[in-house]
Amino acid sequence: MSSLELPEKVVESLSTSRDATGDGRRRMSTIAVHAGEQRQKPGDSITDPIFCASTYTFRDTQSVIDYIEQEQPREEYGRYGNPGERVAEQKLAALEGAEDAVLYSSGMAALVGLLMSKLNSGDEVIFFDECYHRSREFCSKHMSRFGVKTVQVPACDYEAMEAAVTPNTRMLISESPTNPHMSVVDLDRFAEIGRQTGVETLIDATLATPYNLQPIDAGVDYVLHSATKYLGGHNDLLAGVVAGTEESLEPVRNLRGIMGAVNGPQSVYLLLRGLKTFELRMARHNENGLKVAKFLDEHPRVEKVYYPGLKSHRDFEVAQRTMRGFGGLVTFLLKDADWRATADVVDTVTIPRIAPSLGGVESLIEQPLVMSYYQCTPEDRQRFGIYDNMIRMSCGIEDADDLIADLSQALDRTA
Ligand SMILES: *Cc1c(COP(=O)(O)O)cnc(C)c1O
Repeated sequence: MSSLELPEKVVESLSTSRDATGDGRRRMSTIAVHAGEQRQKPGDSITDPIFCASTYTFRDTQSVIDYIEQEQPREEYGRYGNPGERVAEQKLAALEGAEDAVLYSSGMAALVGLLMSKLNSGDEVIFFDECYHRSREFCSKHMSRFGVKTVQVPACDYEAMEAAVTPNTRMLISESPTNPHMSVVDLDRFAEIGRQTGVETLIDATLATPYNLQPIDAGVDYVLHSATKYLGGHNDLLAGVVAGTEESLEPVRNLRGIMGAVNGPQSVYLLLRGLKTFELRMARHNENGLKVAKFLDEHPRVEKVYYPGLKSHRDFEVAQRTMRGFGGLVTFLLKDADWRATADVVDTVTIPRIAPSLGGVESLIEQPLVMSYYQCTPEDRQRFGIYDNMIRMSCGIEDADDLIADLSQALDRTA
């Protein structure tokens, strides 16, 4: 058999051998490079090929029947998955220390997919209130149309979360760290509330990544990421992922096959390519985030810095105990600055680009008031803790001293 006839076999062994190389004893960088991949690939290629196929062929009628009757692991139609996607899912599951993972076309598709498959009319979900504004919007504006009630309690108020649980509560949801305030959830306490009340728990760990936080280890049921951010890491793709047990993800995977929120093969390739350097990039993001946060913390023009690696942060102690590092996102408030003076700083830096998103190799900067909350009422912004003098910077992998020199000149020139 020529190696080019391998795909069906490859697909088969991919689904049966959970993880040929990243067996949990391996360390993160090794897992990021090798987990989920066959040692010998189609065409003897070292990289996973991009299978540009919307459908997959059967030799004859009997093979179709065998596939259906014996539930043989192989590809069928592109909406149910493609070979590269399975590699990415197993790599991501291995990085999370989870049994399984389901990949989506974006982080929001992952959230929508998970909640739609788990919640029924009459159910309730409880959120910590600091969260990605679109997650909040999906629950309050759209799940509500299907009879799902959303309850919000203040971030990291565990007593309030526990008290809000009713017999109808189906899921407890939080980000950690939260965006843009960088609050860090005590995962042991969070998971314990879920266990005690018999309610499933979900952590959106996009800002932490598995490099800095391992929610499954702490007993959380589902971990969600916008893989658009650090996992892809190059500001060049959209993807999302949910990790958990195989059993709990089966209905999630089935609904994804119906919703069709799947990734194109090229996008999956970019994700796999990005993941190869995941460990190296995260080490630099952590280093740059901490250095930039410390610089800002000591700057006379800065009123407050939100970064959990700083002693001044409310959750410093929880972060030290539970996180390996604190990532590249740094949020800060300027002293005595209105929205225009704040915008001047954003407009005067020369390295970070002005854009939404975070977690890529290029540093990005934005004023949350303008970028994400411009159409909100001032009351809502106050409620969400979005201030006119707030700047959010996603530190990329550039040299920290260059980023600091750039911020320094921008703060000086606009003073
Ligand atoms: C970006 C982001 C999302 C949404 O992910 P997309 O890939 O943009 O759909 C969800 N949660 C957090 C914390 C994010 O930063």
